[in-house]
Amino acid sequence: MKIPPEKFDEISSANDIVDVVSGYIQVKKKGKSFLALCPFHPDKNPSLHISQAKQVYHCFSCKSSGNVYTFVQNFEKITFMEAVQKLALRAGIQLNLNSKDPDLSNELSKLFEINKASAKFFHRNLKNLSGNEKEFIMGYLDERKIDFKLAEKFGIGYSHKSWDSLMNYFMEDEIFTKPELERSGVLVHKEDDSNADKYYDRFRGRLMFPIFSENDKVVGFGGRKLYEDDLGGKYINSPESKIYNKSKVLYGLNFAKEKIRYYDYVIIVEGYMDLISLHKFGIENVVASSGTALSEDQVNLISRYTKNICLLFDSDLAGIKAAKRGIEIILEAGLELSVISLPEGEDPDSFLNKYDKTEFEKYVSGRKSVINFISDLYTKENKLSSVEDKTNFIKEIIGYIGKIQDKIKRAFYIKEIAELYSLYESDLRDELEKTLKENKPKPYLRSSVIIPEKKSTNGSSGKVVILPEEHDIIDLFIHGNEEVLNYLENNLETGFIKNPTVLKIVEYFLDEYIDSGKIEFSKSLNDIESEDAKILISTIAVPRHEPSYFKSNSRDHLLNKSVQMEYSLKYAKDVIKKIKLRQLEEDRLTLKKYPDKILEVFEITKKINELKKSP
Ligand SMILES: [Zn+2]
Repeated sequence: MKIPPEKFDEISSANDIVDVVSGYIQVKKKGKSFLALCPFHPDKNPSLHISQAKQVYHCFSCKSSGNVYTFVQNFEKITFMEAVQKLALRAGIQLNLNSKDPDLSNELSKLFEINKASAKFFHRNLKNLSGNEKEFIMGYLDERKIDFKLAEKFGIGYSHKSWDSLMNYFMEDEIFTKPELERSGVLVHKEDDSNADKYYDRFRGRLMFPIFSENDKVVGFGGRKLYEDDLGGKYINSPESKIYNKSKVLYGLNFAKEKIRYYDYVIIVEGYMDLISLHKFGIENVVASSGTALSEDQVNLISRYTKNICLLFDSDLAGIKAAKRGIEIILEAGLELSVISLPEGEDPDSFLNKYDKTEFEKYVSGRKSVINFISDLYTKENKLSSVEDKTNFIKEIIGYIGKIQDKIKRAFYIKEIAELYSLYESDLRDELEKTLKENKPKPYLRSSVIIPEKKSTNGSSGKVVILPEEHDIIDLFIHGNEEVLNYLENNLETGFIKNPTVLKIVEYFLDEYIDSGKIEFSKSLNDIESEDAKILISTIAVPRHEPSYFKSNSRDHLLNKSVQMEYSLKYAKDVIKKIKLRQLEEDRLTLKKYPDKILEVFEITKKINELKKSP
């Protein structure tokens, strides 16, 4: 599936980045920049900056950056080609693509394709079972009342009890390499004395649940243990990959989106099976946290669909304690949180198999706010009799109330709790004051390191150092006019560039300029593979709209002079001169170590002095 370059240009110029991003999130204009709350990390102050002139975005907190294609790709969690198709459709541009071909255009797309093919493979296995295996697996599904329709809907599958059945399947057509399959998580790689390249299937003899992204893409798997002799855990999950981050995915959200919007609340359950049971009875506004505590990203994700969250967890104090962080995150985000508590000893699956949907709905409408729920639990578990118990209770409940953003709501709960448990309202308020002081949001930590950091491979833990003049070179390529670019092409010696990321970018820009006579800045973000390089380009290209900050911080002032600088030929000459001088000084230092190189040292010194004097 190849798209000719002129089509790319046509599609991107028909899709202004500010328009496209505004279609997903709220964007505000500020000066020359457009700002938004970054959708790629929990963002309280708008950190996402969009440059309409350069058609790129950059987040100054989480460093997400890219062009219109990457925004759509990352926001919708789709492949690059799908993003291109989406934008083509949006602009009414015809693309004649054979959509049956796998999209192998970049690493992310490959990972999506591998997961999709694996899910199909596992599902086919389930359909084609025979003999004892069939009897065993079908028995298991029957017991859990999973019929074929449900298995189809959730793409449930089966991984054979074999070390290599999936691997052999992929090796038939050799579209993907073993290292790629390993990176997607379906294969495991083990280094081994006898055989350095040992790969095998991660999931063996398990009931497979594909984990879908918000947009129906398979990003990973959960594999349920089936056999007694399987020594692995009850569930094995795909490891994290470039497309699967378990704290950013909510199982079942793809099936639940519409229903969550419609009912304006979501039920959060713990496991895959709980969720599937609810679906079986037509309750579809459900997502599962899949065993992990709710993360900020997950809460962020859900808040795009509804502000009303309803937990259906093990309802005892121990269960609440385990969910504590998740509850705090939900309250801090200003969402409404309630808890459904089923009769003791029942989980959604057992409950619905015994009763029915109407009975379940009674429990839903009888749900309690989390504050009331916790205080009831204390009473129920008889934890309010001694003075010490009461003190603990107050501390805990106030801890939660302190997380609620709404002042009026906080006051309401304080009053209610005081009345219910015959406590002094003033005691509660004092405690709340203390908690609020401790909770006070930390001042927004502005990321002062703009240049991407990377763990260095040579063992030292240093940041990637980018010399100011190397930074300026990229700056010039991005903002310079014809004259400047021409000068750079003829005078810049790439051998003098130290930083490998900068070198990659400069080589790319030079090639582009020589090939086409111009530098298409937004295109570079498609073409260059290195993540560091993309971040660096976007960082330099997108001006940060914080003028007062520039004045107070000389380092950022230097890095952001693009905002005020004139990209004149003189500036270009200065930068090239600085780079040359630095190289010559370095050479001189090296040569000085060798007594027999005295003549060379003299020559270099002469050159340095000439260069310094030159205009
Ligand atoms: Zn961000």
